[in-house]
Order: sequence, then structure tokens, then C-alpha cells
Amino acid sequence: MTDYKNFTVDADKDGIALVTWDMPDRSMNVFTEEVMNELEAIIDHVATTEAIKGAVFTSGKETFSGGADLGMLQKMLGLFEKEKNKDRKKAIKLLFDNAGRMGWLWRKLETCGKPWVSAINGTCMGGAFELSLACHGRVVADSPAVKMALPEVKVGIFPGAGGTQRVPRLANTQEALQMLTTGQTLSPQKAKAMGLVHQVVPPKKLVEAAKKMILDGLKPVQPWDEKGFKLPGGPVYSAAGANLWPPAIAILRRETYGNYPAATAILKCVYEGLLVPFETALTIEQRYFTEIMQTTEAKMMIRSLFISLQELNKGARRPQDVPMRKFKKIGVLGAGFMGAGIAFVTAKAGIPVVLVDRDVPAAEKGKAHSASLMDGLIKKGRAMPEDKEKLLSLITPSDDYAALDGCELVIEAVFEDSEVKKGVTEKAEAVLKPSATFASNTSTIPITSLARNSKRPKNFIGIHFFSPVDKMMLVEIILGKKTEDKALATAMDYVRAIKKTPIVVNDTRGFYVNRCVLRYMQEAFSMVIEGVPAPMIENAAKMAGMPVGPLALTDETAVDLAQKIMKQTIRDLGPKAVDPRHMELIDTLVDKYGRLGRKNGKGFYDYPERPAKKHLWAGLKDLYPQKKPEKVDVEELKQRLLATIALEAARVMEEGIVTDPREADVGSILAFGFAPYTGGALSYIDGMGVKEFLAMTKQLQKKYGKQFKAPALLHDMAEKGETFYQRFAPETGAKERKAA
Ligand code: NAD
Repeated sequence: MTDYKNFTVDADKDGIALVTWDMPDRSMNVFTEEVMNELEAIIDHVATTEAIKGAVFTSGKETFSGGADLGMLQKMLGLFEKEKNKDRKKAIKLLFDNAGRMGWLWRKLETCGKPWVSAINGTCMGGAFELSLACHGRVVADSPAVKMALPEVKVGIFPGAGGTQRVPRLANTQEALQMLTTGQTLSPQKAKAMGLVHQVVPPKKLVEAAKKMILDGLKPVQPWDEKGFKLPGGPVYSAAGANLWPPAIAILRRETYGNYPAATAILKCVYEGLLVPFETALTIEQRYFTEIMQTTEAKMMIRSLFISLQELNKGARRPQDVPMRKFKKIGVLGAGFMGAGIAFVTAKAGIPVVLVDRDVPAAEKGKAHSASLMDGLIKKGRAMPEDKEKLLSLITPSDDYAALDGCELVIEAVFEDSEVKKGVTEKAEAVLKPSATFASNTSTIPITSLARNSKRPKNFIGIHFFSPVDKMMLVEIILGKKTEDKALATAMDYVRAIKKTPIVVNDTRGFYVNRCVLRYMQEAFSMVIEGVPAPMIENAAKMAGMPVGPLALTDETAVDLAQKIMKQTIRDLGPKAVDPRHMELIDTLVDKYGRLGRKNGKGFYDYPERPAKKHLWAGLKDLYPQKKPEKVDVEELKQRLLATIALEAARVMEEGIVTDPREADVGSILAFGFAPYTGGALSYIDGMGVKEFLAMTKQLQKKYGKQFKAPALLHDMAEKGETFYQRFAPETGAKERKAA
């Protein structure tokens, strides 16, 4: 028998071949060109070897497979871009053929004449789940670790290897659409209930059960290839179809505002595909897939939400020459809102935490936060009572700084007051080893100035979390002037240990994220003052792809916090640093009407008792003369809200605060949900083209003011025809950071 690099093929006495996928050079199985070539040879071998009665496909790793290597897709796109300028038609044909390779290979498997059963032993994603759907039988290990999904839509593409056709031929159409358009993750039980898998069995019996399906006479023919096949959800042109399709289109529109071409393409694939024979349907899918692959959205989303995100999570910006650190004990100072959350995520990563506050009851209260978060997880079936016990046993509440002895890292989250922070820094350093790293979670005070309170400023760094700490995936790591690589490496190892994504930022007021967020809110304040009806502002933001409207966001973070920040900015930078009209609006809300935001039940919104829903405060429209809605250009509102953030991100790059465009992009999506279909705040500019972006902001500046003045950097880039990813190629970024 032929030897394969990525597979073993063992036939048993009954003539059933066990095909085990186990890539020697990867921790997870993924589809590469080599894997596909080998798989094709195996399918041929099974089909043509008389002694083989059928095949069971499984994985030799803990997980089944992560799906296609998106690097392969990027290569395919690169080839397309290269060819496109020479011969567009030929380039599209090449892309079409490449895009269809996997889909037709799976078709070959399901029509090879021998029965195939997929034995899904662990997480099974994307192309691997599509391969499994092409098998005649599917058996899944009954374990919470097994998750199945077709998540492609989350990175701007869709399941293009038969997924859009086989799912709605196995499950009812509504559930199929839900799964495909959201990239929903399925448990074994859910997949079985939907009709996507045949059996859920104890993990140890997995291969045996798969083989038994073949021995029991599994037919090597898919239901859709049998005469008289009926769709589980009924035909498109039927009463059921008439009830389903119009709302399905409306729901998709409501969820995406048409910003995600891949999600729309899924609906088209399913609708059109269910009207025709299976192979025609596969061709329809292949055509839409080829179209979607060429969209800016796909290119940008694959880059930011898959490739860059993975690279940052692996510590792309970590100094190479410092050894990795495993933490045995971490200190958290301040057991308030943020400190309690930081203690929770640290203990959740299995690291012992000492949680210090002014007195033991305050520290205990911080620990109780972890208990209530764990209760929530237990209620949802995502944790067991013993997990709660274990986690709580890792948190030691205390009011004694001596308890910090032996901590390799201490994170300070006490009041936002320089004097209080100075006091706790000194007390902690008196106990800590000189090599320990001290981090501050401050949101506004420059790290360099806080580092002056430290005897070892080289070990002083900012680790800036976002609230709620347990949910927000981004962490900003802020370098003070004297911060050295060892502290940076420690901070990155910590962020990696708690499974969040780090971005590295140089020291400045508001760092990166808050600078951008403030711009978003300020533009909305201007709109309110101009008399744009508030619901239009909030809706325009959602239509532009933002998850939370700017006024709702101001309420969430507190209107009086916005007031505090503005007042502090005036104190530090002078009265011109804040638009007096904005100050007046916020002062009116806070001082005249006591509207502090969600926390006191009234801000830009009113928050009535549940189950009533929040709604915009009716009094808002009495503050400023209102424009007629039909006189407001919604497209322009959308442009203003996105452009003001993108310009700030460009300024941050110009100032060298962020040096790597991957961090600016991923950071903008993870921290405040910057329109994910754009690939992030800088990719928004790159995707539209710097010249076009400048033309747009010039118009906006003329009409709305200097906040839309583009930095010199963008003019220079436009002149040179550069993108951010060319100008600040990630390797150069690392060098610049070192030099900074
Ligand atoms: P908080 O008021 O909820 O908690 C502060 C805690 O520090 C309190 O429990 C207080 O008892 C304790 N504390 C005060 N002085 C102390 C001392 N001398 N020794 C020990 N403990 C002391 O505040 P918070 O919202 O958790 O903010 C904490 C820090 O995190 C601030 O620097 C803030 O700027 C920053 N931050 C806050 C947010 C947010 O959304 N709230 C987001 C990012 C960063």
C-alpha cells in the first residue's frame, strides 16, 4: 500500500479501511494542497481496491480538523490578483477551478461506489465538516469537547465545498439557514437533532460504531442521489417555502444591513440550489464562491479576523529573546469592578491570584464576583460545580501586602487617582522581588508618569483591560518610556495565558482604543447638536456595521465619565481641547437632568424596569431644534461615524503610538466592534483606497469641521499609492517599536 505523509490507511479483516488523518508537522489537521492530493489518491484507492468494502475516516489528533488552511485561500487570491491584470477572464476561470477543487473532490468521494463513514472524534470545522457531510454516514463522539460548525461566514466567505447544499438537504431549511448564515457551533446532540449526523456514541466506541454502520449494509448512495428524494423542509415553491423565504430575507437584512456579501450569497446558494439537481447546485455554489472570494470584504476579513488575529494571539509582537514565562502567582491590587474581573480571568487560566484591597471584606467582595460568574456558567451548562470550587480555591483575598510575596506579576486596578496608585505601587514593591513586573490597568494616566512612582521603571508597564473583563477579548499593553522587553514579554505571556488578544501600544493620552471610541461618541454629540434625530444616529451606526450606537455606548460607559474625561482634558490641555458645544451637552445631561447613563437608569436612553426595553430619552429632542428626517443624509451619517474613527486610527499610526496595522485593525474590531466587514479601522481606508478616503473626508471636513482633517501621513500614502499594510509592513513595525 502507498505511504502517505498525512494519513494512515489500515484495512481490517472485514475489508474496512480506517483512514486516519494525522499531519506530522501541525498540531491541528488542516486542508492543504498536499492533503487534498493525498486524499484524492486514497479515495481512488478505496474505490478501485476490490478487497476494500468501505472506509471510515477519522483523525489521529485530539481535534478532528480546523478546516481549510486559510493561507491556501490567500495564496489562491494572490494568484488571482497577479493573473487579473494580464487576462481577467483567465484569472477568474483559474479562481473558479481552484475554488471548486474541494467541493468536487467531496463529490467524488460520495459517488465512488463504496460507503464512507466519518468518525468525528473532536472539533470539526469548515471543510472537514463538509467532507463529513459528503460521507454516507456520520458518527460523533459524545463529548462536550466535540464541536461542529461551518464558520466561514465569520471571515467573509461561506462553506464552498457543498456545505450550502448538503445541510439544507439533511436539515430543515430554516435551521440550515440559521446555521450557515451565523456560523453557529453545534454540539453532537444538536447536530443529531438537526439530522446532520446519524449517531452519537461514547468516544471509545467511535470507530467501532462507524465500522458497524458499513457492516450493517450502509448504502454508498446519498439520499439526494436517490430517486424520489424529498427535501426535509419541503420544496422552495410550496406553502412552507412561501412562509419561510420572505421573512428569511428580511431577517438577514435586519442582522447584516447588507454589509456581508457572503451571508447574502448563502441565501442565494440555498434558494437556487434547492431548485435544481445536486450537481447543478454544486456549480451554483462554486460560482457564488468565486464571486465572494473577489470581494474586498472577504479579503479584509480573512486577513484581520483569521490570519492577523491568529498571529497576534501567538504573540507576534513578543520580544523573541526573552524566555517564555509560566506564572505561579499573580497579584491584583484593588478588588473593585475591574480588579475582581481580572482576578476571575486569571484564576480561570489556572493561575493562583492574591486579591488585595483596603480591607478584607472589600477583597472578599471582589472574590464573590468570581463565584457569581461561575454560578452563571454552571446554570448555562458551561461549567461544573467542581470547576467553581477549583477556581475559587485559587483566589486569596487579603488586605496584607505581604501576601504578594513571590508574585511574578502584579496588576494594579485601584482608584483612578495618581496618589492612590503611588501608595500601592510603593507598598507592593517593598514586598516584591526586584525582577517582578508591575502593571497598571489605568485608563487615562500615562504609564510613563505612573512609572515615576516605581523604583524599577523598566519593569513597569500598562495592561489595560476592557469591561466586562470576562467578556472582552482585547487587552492593550502600554509601554512606558523606560519599559524594557522583559516586562513586555511577561505582559504578553500573561495575556496569552488568559487567552485574550494583546496589542502593544506606546504611551499616550487615551492610548489607542479610547482615542478612537471618544471620536465616535463626539461625532454623535455633534449630530445631536445639529438636530439629527437621535434614533437616526443610532440606526445609522448599526447600518454602518457598528454593534452598539454611539449614544448607547456613552450610556454604557457612563455619561458622567465622559464629563470627567472632558474636564480632565481641559485641565491638562486647555479649553480648546474640548468642543464647548459638546461640554454643554454633557453638562446639561449630567448636571441639569442627572442623566448619568445606564448605571442610574437614565442617560441618552431611558431604562424602564424589565421586561420593558430601553428607549431614547424623549427630552433629548427638546434640547436642540430638530431636523426633518428626510432632510438628513443617512449615508453621510454612516460615513461620518466610520471615518472619524478611521482618521483617529491613522493619526495613531502617524504618531507611532501603534506601529503594526494588524494591531490597529484587530484592536478596533475586538474593542469596539468597528464594522467587522471592513477588516478594521485601517483596512476600511485600505479597502476603499486612500485617495477615495481622502476625497470623502475632504467633503466631510468642508461641511462638518476639522475633526475630518486628514493627517499628512494619508496624503503622503495617497501620493505614493501605498496601503497601510505596505507602508507599515508588520516586520518593519517590530523594528520601529524597538527604536521607539
Ligand atoms: P472601582 O472603584 O470599582 O475599584 C477600585 C478598587 O480599588 C476598590 O475596591 C477600592 O476599595 C480599591 N482601592 C482603593 N484604594 C486602595 C488601596 N490603597 N489599596 C487597595 N485597594 C484600594 O474602580 P474600577 O472601575 O475597577 O477601576 C479601577 C482601575 O481600572 C482604574 O484605574 C480605572 O481607570 C481602570 N479601568 C476601568 C475601566 C472601567 O470600565 N471601569 C476600564 C479600564 C480600566
